[in-house]
Amino acid sequence: MKIKILTLFPEMFDGFKNNSIIKRAIAKGVVEIELINIRDYTKDKNFRVDSAPIGGGAGLIMKLQPLVDCLNATCTASTHKIMLSPRGKTYNQKKANELKNLQEVALICGHYEGIDERFNDYVDELISIGDYVLTGGEIASMAIADSIIRLLDGAINNESLVDESFDDDLLEYPQYTEPYEFEGKKVPDILYSGNHEAIKKYRRKESLRLTKKYRPDLYEKHVKNKQDLKLIKEIEDGNESPKWMTDALEKGKKFTH
Ligand code: SAM
Repeated sequence: MKIKILTLFPEMFDGFKNNSIIKRAIAKGVVEIELINIRDYTKDKNFRVDSAPIGGGAGLIMKLQPLVDCLNATCTASTHKIMLSPRGKTYNQKKANELKNLQEVALICGHYEGIDERFNDYVDELISIGDYVLTGGEIASMAIADSIIRLLDGAINNESLVDESFDDDLLEYPQYTEPYEFEGKKVPDILYSGNHEAIKKYRRKESLRLTKKYRPDLYEKHVKNKQDLKLIKEIEDGNESPKWMTDALEKGKKFTH
């Protein structure tokens, strides 16, 4: 996949491109990230890319000419063009899953007070990363690029992508690692039972519990199957040691912490 980022501040992406999973994904050829400086396309003799808002008001507005020339020179009709904008549809995991299937995506970063309104006619969609205002689209485009890249084949271990938060409108279950006990806080015993079915059930129950607590909006949307309904009943009844769990713990005695 190719991700083109049109920005006035390409150097902001140095850290993003040169660390951790993104760096490895680029090295392995899973993704190509091309940074394009919008300023290179201005025809202004002083290299300006912005101007005062017509009608008055604070700040500077990015001009159409550099943006449109930059877009025309670097993207084709098949490039999916996304303008980062507080006005856009709020980004989510479903959208990341959609975008990961595209061959080429362009992320266009506004800056300053925003962009000339007419530029919106040149892009395929507007995306916001949340109801707050950033100084520019750069951080928003990093968030979007990051969430897409980790979904691409070869970027991370595919198993890490199973049962992640937002799949199925649920949050991920809680995870633990060594030691068993830290300052009196223990890892749930069921995770040592060696009973994969019981562990899966326990994790599903915790996913339901956490989603209800932290994201009641998602919890409402989640389509609950028969097993979910049973687990929800256990939660509501305060039944923390149901039979399936005590059985699994009993049989798994040979597993030690
Ligand atoms: N004056 C604009 C307004 O009130 O809607 C805000 C402009 S903002 C300071 C400059 C640029 O940052 C925007 O053109 C956009 O590209 C980007 N931006 C800011 N907040 C964003 C958000 N929540 N999601 C995506 N992009 C955002």
